[in-house]
Amino acid sequence: MDGSNTGGPTDVPTPRAGYQGEPGSFSARAAARAGRPLAYATFDRLLRALLAGDVDVAVLPAATHGAGPVVEPLEALARALEAGGVPLEVRDEIAIPVRLVLAAPSGVAEESVREIHSQPPVLRQCARLLARRDAVPVETHDTAFAARRVAELGGARAAVCSEEAALEAGLVVLEEDVSDVKPNATRFWTVARRSDAEPTVRALFFSGARLAAALHDAGAEILMLAGRPGAAVGGFATVAAASLAKAAGLVATSGETLVWLGPAPDHVPPPRLRDAPRATEVRAATVVTAGAFAVGGGKRAVIAGPCAVESPEQVMRLAKAVARAGATALRGGVFKPRTSPSAFQGHGLEALRWLKDAGDAVGLPIVTEVMAPAQVEPVARLADVLQIGARNCQNYDLLKEAGAAGRPVMLKRGFGTTVEEWLSAAEYILAAGCEGVLLCERGIRTFERSTRGTLDLGGLLAARSLTHLPLLADPSHAAGRKELVPGLARAAWGAGVDGLMIEVHDAPESALCDGPQALLPEDLEMLLDEFGLLPGRTGSVERVRRAIDAVDSSIAALAARRLELCRRVAEVKKATGRPVRDEAREATVRARFAESLGKDATKASGLADALIALGLEAEGWEGDATRR
Ligand code: PEP
Ligand code: MN
Repeated sequence: MDGSNTGGPTDVPTPRAGYQGEPGSFSARAAARAGRPLAYATFDRLLRALLAGDVDVAVLPAATHGAGPVVEPLEALARALEAGGVPLEVRDEIAIPVRLVLAAPSGVAEESVREIHSQPPVLRQCARLLARRDAVPVETHDTAFAARRVAELGGARAAVCSEEAALEAGLVVLEEDVSDVKPNATRFWTVARRSDAEPTVRALFFSGARLAAALHDAGAEILMLAGRPGAAVGGFATVAAASLAKAAGLVATSGETLVWLGPAPDHVPPPRLRDAPRATEVRAATVVTAGAFAVGGGKRAVIAGPCAVESPEQVMRLAKAVARAGATALRGGVFKPRTSPSAFQGHGLEALRWLKDAGDAVGLPIVTEVMAPAQVEPVARLADVLQIGARNCQNYDLLKEAGAAGRPVMLKRGFGTTVEEWLSAAEYILAAGCEGVLLCERGIRTFERSTRGTLDLGGLLAARSLTHLPLLADPSHAAGRKELVPGLARAAWGAGVDGLMIEVHDAPESALCDGPQALLPEDLEMLLDEFGLLPGRTGSVERVRRAIDAVDSSIAALAARRLELCRRVAEVKKATGRPVRDEAREATVRARFAESLGKDATKASGLADALIALGLEAEGWEGDATRR
């Protein structure tokens, strides 16, 4: 094996991951994600095994989405912590989607079910089911066990469990998706003995009403437990990274408890790459701004414009075109790095003035390349963002000079630069004092000749987990052919890049540089419609209408797809003897629309009602679908 391959398999043994319950349970599934699953009958036994070193992690259900803490395991964890001894940490959280079914031995008629067996937290989230069926809840320690038990006992009994557990026990599914919590997922904690590992969750154990209030104010999520003598108010809390600084100020006074289950909140995690401490520091996403232009941390940008600034008129025309399309910054080269020394080298600083005037006219910041340290100072006087080209990605003197210029710097990845080398290059810029570094993947050199470069989306995604800096993709230089640019742009956008850089020209055949890869302004417009970008202040009504048309086409296509799915579900309902109309389900559909349309609640219900009525019609419902 190649020892330098940090992403490859290592000889670290698979952790032993204990869980409470039986194979086939949701806990077993969560444990399999944390290591080699080992079953324990009770939470207390599981935690004793953890303290004794018989398992490496204990995987405990801690909270249900929307339904608060799972008290039994958290109570057991509280007992283990109160007993003292070995310090523990919450290392990670694993969310397992939970789909619960009601299942009974074959031959049990649905309406005859009088007992419903399951685990207490599961029974609690099926209150509506229990009420509707007028059944008695029977507590078991595990959902898979409930399924087996019901199969053994027979009679008018049913279990709430996963579909897999039901089938495994030979039961028949009477009803699907029976939880009141929708969508339903359980968040499991992997609890371990205290180590040096970097946790992904910051959890703490506390008691005292004052601390509960302070944690709540600090934005912590509180998982409250039932009071105990001497600790009437207490439980666990998780603190998001953004709130850690606030929570760090909290200390327990007498009679209170505050135990961090892992490193203290002021602990500074080490950078993800030792040699690039600034670029790979573990921190919230960096948002790079230049005036109204902002990219990173959820803000997405498109930098567009010609490869080279050719004349004042050309750049003014294209500035208007890209602003109208919805671009958020204007690009244009004034110093052009060309493979051939006899090719057009750019119009230099004179063209920078033309670029600046064009940007100002449409209200867009300008991005332009610097090729030599001596160009940095004069270019930085006018340019909003300095670009370092692929050929200069590892030109360290240039990186240092650009980093000290007081402007954000966009660093393009070299054709032969690894992700680590690229991040190390960014480190030079950051070390020189620049905080706003943008990273742009523009195609690397591979054996492939049908494209100019190979857009390395895998490398971009790998960089995403290493750096807080905004990541952009340049599909134009990667493709070298305009017909491939929209596809690559969509792929990069879909992969979650913070921004794109796209070359645009209105007369590509006579462009002085990179004509074959330039999109026409109208092509850019269509692409940015798809991304939901809109023109700035120089936009036009017609342009916005085109965006509305594109949305309408999508809605129409989605409505058609929805009707198709309604017909499909009707077939399944008929085949399994279920009624066509399900009012609980209709309420869920309405709630979803109300959630996304928010304050426009009346409009939301109008839209939902129309879709539901169309759906019922498609399903062959013969009643009055509009009546509720
Ligand atoms: C450019 O953006 O115009 C350019 C020259 O790009 P790269 O450095 O990626 O080739
Ligand atoms: Mn170019």
